[in-house]
Amino acid sequence: MKIAFYSTKPYDKIWFAPLAEQYGYIIDFLESPCRPSSIQLARGFDAICIFVNDTITAPMIDELCNLGVKAILLRSAGFNHVDLNAAKDRLHVLRVPSYSPDAVAEYAMALLLTVNRCTHRAYSRTRDFNMSINGLMGQNLCERTIGIIGTGKIGQCMIHICRGFNMNVIAYDPYPNSALDVKYVTLEDLFSQSHIITLHCPLTKETEHLVNAQTIQMMQDNVYLINTSRGGLIHTEDLIDALVNRKFAGVGLDVYEEEEGIFYEDRSNDIIPDENLVRLTSFPNVLITSHMGFFTQEAMKAIAEVTMENAHAIKNNLELKNAL
Ligand code: NAD
Repeated sequence: MKIAFYSTKPYDKIWFAPLAEQYGYIIDFLESPCRPSSIQLARGFDAICIFVNDTITAPMIDELCNLGVKAILLRSAGFNHVDLNAAKDRLHVLRVPSYSPDAVAEYAMALLLTVNRCTHRAYSRTRDFNMSINGLMGQNLCERTIGIIGTGKIGQCMIHICRGFNMNVIAYDPYPNSALDVKYVTLEDLFSQSHIITLHCPLTKETEHLVNAQTIQMMQDNVYLINTSRGGLIHTEDLIDALVNRKFAGVGLDVYEEEEGIFYEDRSNDIIPDENLVRLTSFPNVLITSHMGFFTQEAMKAIAEVTMENAHAIKNNLELKNAL
């Protein structure tokens, strides 16, 4: 089994290299992202292994088929970056459906706590011996209403965490889970009743721009918004307009609509061409991080193990239980 591993970062090798040796597979760790211009690097490989910002379009799938590649191994649960229709019956596409929902939910809470209590700003101030706390006032989370959109694996972990903070939890999911002890409400009610809204649903045609000018208008003033799911759930320009109009007490974003080429890269010496991203980073009540909600040792270990099991299943014609 030969795998072309795109978008390699040092932390990927730590987890994947020993497993490749164990399985006896060859992994070529490529720093290049998977783009039309780099797809030819997959020549001679059985599979490619990609991450969340490696977008695979229909023409790229044609090319992969021409090169004899048999499978796309996703190092992620989300799969909105692969044209599955184009891949159907031609290439196997396998994902890691769950690696550590706790990691992402804990991170969503970290974003909320940070953007609410301004610990990130306090850290910068005290390192400069600016001990003023002016402008850093937050709100108690206890007894506030948090609206959870999407009660799958991560949403459920988030519910448990919020209960620990003695928050009032309400939820929306088009497929409510009757086994869950949570109060489901309509999306409209969730928007209007929540002091905090946190997104834990996938990016699909139905959820694209779920947060937009119209839905923002339904929200309470001084609401908090947390997004650790996918950037496309939020209409960025509408969010910026609302921030300018002081709608939000705080916004924590681990994901962004136009991450590709910026997130996971060191662009600190560049002029950033994305004006929306630059504008978003300028708000004192907005915290943006680089799609790292998953990034714990436990999650990285699980991603590597399941990805290699997926490769093993393909090589040995076993049941492809993580196929899309
Ligand atoms: P999951 O499949 O277990 O749960 C998703 C839930 O969303 C399901 O209950 C589903 O019914 C619900 N849903 C579907 N359509 C909906 C809609 N229109 N409105 C509201 N809810 C809807 O997925 P999960 O493991 O909990 O992951 C959720 C998302 O988190 C993923 O899709 C991925 O985009 C994101 N994620 C982000 C990171 C990160 O590092 N930031 C890591 C892993 C996953």
